[in-house]
Amino acid sequence: MSGTNAATSREAAVEILALNAYGIADRDGKQVTRQMVESRLEELAGHPPACDCGLCDLAPLVTVSKVYGTAARWQLSIAATRALARGARPRHWR
Ligand SMILES: [Zn+2]
Repeated sequence: MSGTNAATSREAAVEILALNAYGIADRDGKQVTRQMVESRLEELAGHPPACDCGLCDLAPLVTVSKVYGTAARWQLSIAATRALARGARPRHWR
């Protein structure tokens, strides 16, 4: 049972950190890259032990490729959704 819980919290950690990475990239109008995720995770690993930002505790539970894969997938699907929404908008809204 504890194995299942560990896997679940690792999955949750990946999603939380992917959301964070996606949020940063989106705010800056940039593409999520492996490099960007890697430096974000390195930055989090450098937080002091008493830090309570809620993110740095999660960094040791994830891998760069999992966080990158998740964030990049979201970015693609959100971009596609935005493009669809723009296309669906009546002309006079533009
Ligand atoms: Zn922190």
